[in-house]
Amino acid sequence: MSAIYYFNTITDSKGNHEVHTQECIFLPSEGTRKRIGMESNCQNAIASARRENPGKTFDGCFYCSKECHTG
Ligand SMILES: [Zn+2]
Repeated sequence: MSAIYYFNTITDSKGNHEVHTQECIFLPSEGTRKRIGMESNCQNAIASARRENPGKTFDGCFYCSKECHTG
């Protein structure tokens, strides 16, 4: 399902930027998130985020992007 995706500009304990949909209850507040854009799934959202933010690593949120969550 298409959704607007964001990533947390603050890294998690493993150094990854967690990726969320706009609907997620864990979506970071405005000051600590960056918009990725409208994507058809979390795989595409992460691919797009990687392209635009070279050097950063990403991980899908356990709750809203479970199929992209690697731990
Ligand atoms: Zn989430």
